[in-house]
Amino acid sequence: MKKKRIWALITALCLTCTVGFGMTGEQPIKVSAADSLSEIQQKQKEIQKKLNEAKSNLNSVNKQIGAEKQKQEALDNQISLNQQKINVLQQSISAMNADIADKNNQIAQKEEDIANKEIEITDTYEAFKKRMRAMYMAGENSSLEMLLSAESFSDFLTNAEMMKAISAHDQQLVEDLRAQKAAIEEEKTGIEQDKAAIEQRKQEIIIQREDIKATQSELEQAYAQSKDAMQDYGALKDQYENNRDAALAEEKAVEAELQNWYKTHSSNSSDGSTANSQFIWPLPGYSRISSPYGSRWGGFHTGMDITGGGVFGANIVAAASGTVIQSTSHYSYGNYIIVDHGGGYSTLYAHASQLLVSIGQKVEQGQTIAKVGSTGNSTGPHLHFEVRVNGKHQNPANYVHA
Ligand SMILES: [Zn+2]
Repeated sequence: MKKKRIWALITALCLTCTVGFGMTGEQPIKVSAADSLSEIQQKQKEIQKKLNEAKSNLNSVNKQIGAEKQKQEALDNQISLNQQKINVLQQSISAMNADIADKNNQIAQKEEDIANKEIEITDTYEAFKKRMRAMYMAGENSSLEMLLSAESFSDFLTNAEMMKAISAHDQQLVEDLRAQKAAIEEEKTGIEQDKAAIEQRKQEIIIQREDIKATQSELEQAYAQSKDAMQDYGALKDQYENNRDAALAEEKAVEAELQNWYKTHSSNSSDGSTANSQFIWPLPGYSRISSPYGSRWGGFHTGMDITGGGVFGANIVAAASGTVIQSTSHYSYGNYIIVDHGGGYSTLYAHASQLLVSIGQKVEQGQTIAKVGSTGNSTGPHLHFEVRVNGKHQNPANYVHA
């Protein structure tokens, strides 16, 4: 599957090259196949740099988004908590308003009662005055004359007692009414005091509510700001994702270019065809060559690096049968194995996470001898594979193909 895809890419690239030359004719355009290995590697390095930058930007913006999300959640919690508080205070205020309305009704009732008493007092007093006037009119000029006009002492006493009784009775009546009125007025004052107390409490609660409302509007403002920030981060994230995707596409293209170069050069090799039958690909299921044999960054890469998604822990197999002559750890190779195949041929497998064979052990072609890792001088899980003839490293591309 992988091999087919790579070939499809290479074929596509080659077609592009041919068409490109045909169309432009005399103008020498820079084509993939014409690039030197070091140029391809340089491109790869630049693309890697872009990719790393995009990934790092994406990473940091994702962190900011995460932090902003947490902030929003905290704000949201606070806002709903405050809303609950406001609702409770609002309920108290409503209850107090109902109380105050009730007190107002009671006060109005008392005022009506007082007014009625007032009328009763006035009426009683008027009746008393009327009676006095009637008595006065019935007699001579005054009540004294009425008393003196008694024909007998008995009459006199009767008149006097009567006068006194009438007066005392009416006086009592008025006094009772006045006392009743005063009692009602006292009740009314009591109700008014209760009402005033409720109103004071209500004012305090309104202040509390207004305080929370002020905090609430600050929180809501902060939330709105956070939402704006989130939008900005989202836009940045999109941009970084685009950068990353573009770099990934470039990486894929340059990889295809590398494969192309690699295939072209290996098919030109004289001993490639015979070696192909002797050695098998050392990392089944993984065909991506992240770094080929040859000059690299001012040095020389003595093998080929093979990798792919999920490569860590994959089986490394012996390219041919032979004897294990090295199985150890090295500062640069990490955990590595050398298998001697006889006839001056040996192969080396480096950066393993696990070594499964030991020195002196005989291995068959295709036998799993180690697991892919990233030990030693390595930036990520891959197999560094070398082919040596009489101890001298060769281009593995002349010996193995994915
Ligand atoms: Zn390597």
